[in-house]
Formats: sequence, C-alpha cells, structure tokens
Amino acid sequence: MSESNVEKSKAATYKGRLSVPRNASNADEDEIPLMETFGVIPRTFDKKDYLEVEYVELFKQQHQKNKREHHTDRYYNRQLIIRRGQTFEIRIDFNRPYNPEKDQFWVEFVIGRYPQQSKGTYLPIPIVDELEVGKWGAKVILNDYNSVTLSILSAPNCIIGKFRMYIAILTPYGILRTPRKSDTDTYILFNPWCKEDAVYMDDEKEIEEYVMNDFGVIFHGEVNNIKTRSWEYGQFEEQMLDACLFLMDKAELDLSGRGNPIKISRIGSAVINGKDDDGVVAGNWNNDYTYGVSPSAWTGSVEILLEYYSSKLPVKYGQCWVFAGVFTTFLRCLGIPARLVTNYFSAHDKDANLQTDVYLDEDGKTNTVLTKDSIWNYHCWTEAWMTRPDLPVGFGGWQAVDATPQENSEGMYRCGPASVQAIKHGHVCFQYDTPFLFAEVNSDIVYSKVLKDGTREVQYFDKTHVGQKLLTKAIGGNGPHDITDLYKFSEGTEEERLALEAALMYGVKKEVRDEEQFLSGLDTTMEFQEDNAIFGSDFKVTLTFKNQSSNRYTLSAFVTGHVVFYTGVLKSEFKNKTLQVTLDPLSTKTVDVQIKAGEYMTNIVEQASLHFFVTARINETKKIMAKQKIVVLKVPELCIKTVGKKVVGKELTVVLEFTNPLKKKLQNVILRIGGPSLMKTKTQIYREIPANTTVTWEETCIPRLAGNRKLIATLDSETLRHVYGELDLEILSGDN
Ligand code: CA
Ligand code: CA
Ligand code: CA
Repeated sequence: MSESNVEKSKAATYKGRLSVPRNASNADEDEIPLMETFGVIPRTFDKKDYLEVEYVELFKQQHQKNKREHHTDRYYNRQLIIRRGQTFEIRIDFNRPYNPEKDQFWVEFVIGRYPQQSKGTYLPIPIVDELEVGKWGAKVILNDYNSVTLSILSAPNCIIGKFRMYIAILTPYGILRTPRKSDTDTYILFNPWCKEDAVYMDDEKEIEEYVMNDFGVIFHGEVNNIKTRSWEYGQFEEQMLDACLFLMDKAELDLSGRGNPIKISRIGSAVINGKDDDGVVAGNWNNDYTYGVSPSAWTGSVEILLEYYSSKLPVKYGQCWVFAGVFTTFLRCLGIPARLVTNYFSAHDKDANLQTDVYLDEDGKTNTVLTKDSIWNYHCWTEAWMTRPDLPVGFGGWQAVDATPQENSEGMYRCGPASVQAIKHGHVCFQYDTPFLFAEVNSDIVYSKVLKDGTREVQYFDKTHVGQKLLTKAIGGNGPHDITDLYKFSEGTEEERLALEAALMYGVKKEVRDEEQFLSGLDTTMEFQEDNAIFGSDFKVTLTFKNQSSNRYTLSAFVTGHVVFYTGVLKSEFKNKTLQVTLDPLSTKTVDVQIKAGEYMTNIVEQASLHFFVTARINETKKIMAKQKIVVLKVPELCIKTVGKKVVGKELTVVLEFTNPLKKKLQNVILRIGGPSLMKTKTQIYREIPANTTVTWEETCIPRLAGNRKLIATLDSETLRHVYGELDLEILSGDN
C-alpha cells in the first residue's frame, strides 16, 4: 500500500461509527500502524454491503467458560483474563451474516503506546481454517445468522499484560475498526498448564500450590526451633493484577521483554525493594519503625502492593520474608509458579570470596571490625519455575530470585534468577548471581586469628554450619517440605566438597587453602544446648566438652551472649563469661551457664533472638574450637475465633484475643487481621495492655469465596514483635 493509500484508508476509518476515534494522541487510544496489517488489498464490494460489527460478546457464557478453562475465574476482576497458548472464545455480532467468501475481518490485540507488529505489541490475528500450536490464529467455530463465534489461540511466548482488543474489517474504503472500549480489554498471563509455555509445570498439584494458592507459610526461627507463620499472597484480590502489572512499567521493562520469565523475575527482584528505584518495599533492620509498619506486623502482600500501587512510594517497612512474600505474590499473579524458601544459617558473603570469614583477636574474641561477612539466623528468598534457554540443558526448573537488597548486581540491588541446580553443583559461572547464592547455602566458615602485627592465621574451618536446612511449604499442607538436597549435596560427602571446589574454581581467584593441617589433631569436641527458653523468663545453656584423647587437657572457654537481629547483626552484649575446664582423658564434662531474664530483656529486639558465641582454647595444644548458636525465645500467640455461620455473602463476626504474659505492661500495641476474600486488613491500636491482662477485639466480615480460607493476625509493639495467630475456616457457598 502506498502512503497516500494509507492516508485514504485512515480517513475512511474515521467516517463510520465504528472507526478509530479522531484524537489519536489520547493515551487510551491507539495509533495502529496500518502498514503492518495484512491483506489490505481493496476488493470489489457493493458500497453499502460491507460488514460492520454491532457487538463483541465477552461477558456472558463465553466469559465464564473462558475464565474457568484458563483458571482465571478467581481473580477479582471483571475483564477477560486468559493464559497464553490456550484457546478462548469470543462472539462477534455483525450487521448481517458473515460470508467467508467475500468478507474479510480479523481480531487485533494491542498493548503499549506505540504498538508494533515486530515487537509483539500489535497482534493482528488472522482467521484461519486450522489453528496451529505455537501461533496466533482465530478459527470460526460457529457462523449463525449474524453472529460469528471464534476460537482464538494465542502464541505461548507472547507478551503478557493488559491488551486492548479491536475487530478490524476490510472495506472498500479502508479498514473499519471497532472503537476503543474498555469492556473488551483483555489480560494475557503466563500459562503453567501449557506445554509450550516457558513456565510449564507437568504436575497439577504443584500448579495448584505454586500458582493458585493465595496463602503461604513462612518458616523462620532457628534450625532446631523452627517457627511458622502464615502469609496471605492474595494474588486474586481486587486490583492486585493491575498492581502487579504496574511493577513492570515501574521497572521500565521493555514491552518486548514481557513474555520472558527470566527478564520478568530479574526486574522483579529489583523493583520489589525500594533501593535504587523507589520500588515496593523499604527495608529496615534497625528495630525503629516509628514512621511505618514494623516488618513483622504485615499479614500478607495485599496491603503492601495496593498501598504501593496508589502511592507509588516505597512502603515502610520490610525484611527478608516481606520481600520474598511480595515477590511470590507478583510472580503467582502473573502466572509464573513461585514459592518462598527459607535458608537456615544463611551466609552473607560481603567480599565475594565464597567463604564466610570470621576474624578472632588473640584472646579468641571476634574482631568485629575486620569481620564483614555475616550469617543470618535464616534468610528467605523466592524461587520461580521456568526454562533457561540461556543456559546449557539441565539448568531449567526452580530458579532462586531474591528481592532483599543485600548486594549490588550489575549496578542495582537485585539477585537472580540463579538456577538451583547450578548452585548445587557449584556451577557459579551461570548467570545470574549464582556465586552469591552458593555462598549463602554452602560456604565454609573460616576462623582466622589476627596477630598483633596484623598477620592472619587460619585457625579452624567449619564446613557444615552454613545452609543447614532449606524449607518451603509442603504442597497441599501447612508443614515444611525440606528442599536442602535441591541446593546442596549432603554435608560430609565427596560431592559436597567437589561442588565447593567447583564454585571456588569458577568463582574466585585461586587461594591456597591448606585445611587438613588445621583439622588434624583435633581430639576434643564442644557442643552447645539450651533448655526451653521463654520470652521474659530465665533459662540455662549447657556446654558439653568431650575429650577423645588419652591426654589430660585444661581449657579456657569464652561465652558471650548478644541480643541479635535475625540478620546476624549484634545489637548488644548481655553476657560475658570465662570458664576454666579440666578434661580427664576420654571423658565428657558439662557446664551450665545461667541466663537471667533481666540480663537480656532491657535490650531485646524483634524476633527475640539471642546469639551465643563460644570459643575454647586447649591450653596444652593451643587448638581452638568455636561454636555459634542462636536461641530464639518462645513468644505468645494470638487467638482468633468466629461467631456465626460461615457462608458466602453472610456477615461473620471475628474475635481476636491476646493475653499479655509478661510481668510488665505493653505499650502502643497494634493488632492487625486480614485474609484474602474474607476481609481487607484491619488494624486496632491499644495504648496499653497491663501485665497478665487479656484484650478482645471484635470485627465483622463478609466472605466472598467458598472453600478453605484463612484469617491471619499479627501483634506488634516495641517490646514484643513476631506474635502471630491464624484460623482456618471452611466457608460454605450460599446455596448450601
Ligand atoms: Ca529496587
Ligand atoms: Ca567472604
Ligand atoms: Ca558445607
């Protein structure tokens, strides 16, 4: 078509009532590049005989059927939502019967301001005789009087997002296009049910958990004292789809990249944190949350994402599980299978040498100035499921992505996607950020002594402390699913050492590591245990020394106790004790250390974690043993009850109860409760809750969906955080 013809056909389309409106600079309207449409060859028509669209039917039978078949009926959103690579149906009513011999029309999907066919942002869908897997196409399945029903197949790699839909008809005067109507706007999402989609998952139960479940469980605490709390992902709640799609605009991800889960998960890991780009969640680890919500007080992602969608400013505040929870929501909402994982004793390798370096002064105490690497009690990140065509075969599947701003990756705080399989085998050469993730789960701790003259002597390797356990929520249940063996070979095996050597080979400059000389000749062991430690009470810790040699030893042990943030950052020392122990040949000795509530309560911070560091020096051999241990104090729980029938559309009373178990009053206590499809998050503030006093808070809600639902509550105060409660509810449909 020549340029003048383009002009002519444009002019013609403005004439009819179904033409593109005049003001094409309006953001809602599209300047569709007519040159890129196909088959624009005028034919011979009787002037008045061309086809005109009267109505496009998306909202009756087809609509519900499409949404059920595409597993999108749970989104609280009236628009058509489809998943790519799967057929859906629309009905078009014309002014007269459609004659395939004579009439030519097609469907168009358009996204973005400057749609282009080459970028996949302008999609003209031809009418074809047979649909072809992998390609866009529309097939007439019913031609009845003036109505035509089309079965439309989308390409399994197309862009995802909110498209505008048009019907275009070729007339003697040019192309007649239906006007922009928000009614026909259509969301296209990833499709884990589709074999050709990069996020395909072959197990229905897995999809049900990792895409469709709008609740999750987060594991925290300490590896021997695992604590759980629920989290509402809420990916189907009102406005959530728009809020999640907005994040790709915010991150300025080029539209042409929005069909690619590698790109989407990488930008997701950047935009979920507030660093660099005013992303969704502002991190804060300093225990002062005066100007926002404390990280432990959130019940889930919905409140956070909707606040961000309206304010466009980072929501205060988050820590790792908040970043991971919001990230999981984002991925599930778009249709990418995702899950939240917790790594116990997660190393943070600051200097990227793939080992966790702890420096000790000559007396055996940690040198806090030189020691930059840290070990978090636990760290949560997210996994996304996808193929990795950018890597060799075998590295697809789960990919670790982490939105917590820990280290800069190519100029931004972001991390991943890193193939979990590559992490396990130490193949840290495969993008993205695999060395960092490897160090988190399987770096050795290297204890070095710093001498007065500044020289450093390696004292001791701890090869099994880091990455002791990795957990995610079990499919279909609330318990843990241990995925440690997806990330690493068993400690103590040859394979585990080989993976570490591979990682060091790929990841760092070669350093001489003569480990054996330090490990040989260690003929004593040291163990650390604590009894059931309850927040606000006294408890004791026990050290057990075992002498496996036939020598008599004397040793000096230093026990220090710190109040600690879960990131491993020390807040303040509350205990410092030196013990002298004599060990007879082939004997075991236990020593108790008493801890008083008064010692730790003054400086206790959220998560109620205490860190114990014990170093012991055998005076005769000068060998050093070191042990780190986290003690997580037990905190009280919230109790949730309901009164009344649990039926969709019927008001239900929710009662939340809390008893202050401490010997002192709690001040400025904030209670929070919410649950997807039950109630939006509500808060209640108590200025003061005296010691041993119970408060009761009543609210009402109207359940929106039937089935197994959940209410999640949190309590937050400066003295006491990470107090949770939850209640499972079976909501009946209105017809029962
Ligand atoms: Ca960011
Ligand atoms: Ca290091
Ligand atoms: Ca190891």
